Amino acid sequence: SKETGRNAIHFFDPAMQASIVARVNMETDLRRAIEENQFRLHYQAQVVGAGRVTGAEALVRWQHPQRGLVSPAEFIPLAEETRLILPLGLWVLETACTQLAVWAGQPRMADLTLAVNVSAHQFRQADFVDQVLSTLKNTGANPHRLKLELTESLLVENVQDIIEKMFALKAKGVGFSLDDFGTGYSSLSYLKRMPLDHLKIDQSFVRDVLSDPNDAAIARTIVALAQNLGLGVIAEGVETEAQRDFLASSGCHAYQGYFFSRPLPIDDFEEFAQRLLPS
Ligand code: C2E
Ligand code: CA
Ligand code: CA
Ligand code: CA
Repeated sequence: SKETGRNAIHFFDPAMQASIVARVNMETDLRRAIEENQFRLHYQAQVVGAGRVTGAEALVRWQHPQRGLVSPAEFIPLAEETRLILPLGLWVLETACTQLAVWAGQPRMADLTLAVNVSAHQFRQADFVDQVLSTLKNTGANPHRLKLELTESLLVENVQDIIEKMFALKAKGVGFSLDDFGTGYSSLSYLKRMPLDHLKIDQSFVRDVLSDPNDAAIARTIVALAQNLGLGVIAEGVETEAQRDFLASSGCHAYQGYFFSRPLPIDDFEEFAQRLLPS
């Protein structure tokens, strides 16, 4: 809370002061990064079965002039706190849709879907639906190739408004995945009210799926839940063949993870997606 926060800040503590200064510096840097276009998208393959690429997830990176490539885990939370996620999220959406429009003209890329992470702040904007639709229109991207990844943190307030926005986009062809499924606190009853296409099994359940019976049970239960609701299911964080085989035997046939490919710069991703699969 605010009160404990205030009590916890002691300006005579040099370590604490240094961390506040670091945060303020990072916020200034982040603002400049948006103006100076220092962000890049990397693309991680989404595959089915033995490794056929069906699409990608766009993951943002910050090409910092001094620090090099900065991971989103380091700056997305601050971007959300400062609402800089709004211009950043729009940049991600525009860049992803521009890429989809380019792929539409390339024989082996034209069928791929592209998943974009959308933060709750973006989704709660009154004009969010218009932003997505005008981005699709301006870039010429096919709405049926765009998937938006939402997390359960979206579902804490104004759920009816969120669901209406989802339906408005769904009506134009845009797809939805529920990300990090099982880690949040949303009511299962929302699952049947939202126009979802996929649940994504969080990587925290995949990591120890072979050694931890609880994680194995959770993974299998999410697969069964998705099947019973008529949804697709994608496992993320698949790092080994044994994890993939376990998931396949549990009925999950769509995957994302280092076992198949890390997130890659666009040229490398295109090469990966077009490679010949061993027969
Ligand atoms: P996420 O949406 O759950 O994305 C998956 C994360 O898992 C990515 O981390 C990806 O690089 C990593 N990953 C993929 N396969 C494996 C694997 O086999 N093993 C392990 N250990 N990790 C794997 P990344 O790229 O660092 O992104 C972290 C988070 O930052 C994302 O988690 C997402 O929540 C957020 N994020 C990334 N890009 C965006 C964006 O454009 N907008 C928003 N709002 N959030 C974003
Ligand atoms: Ca995601
Ligand atoms: Ca995820
Ligand atoms: Ca995650």
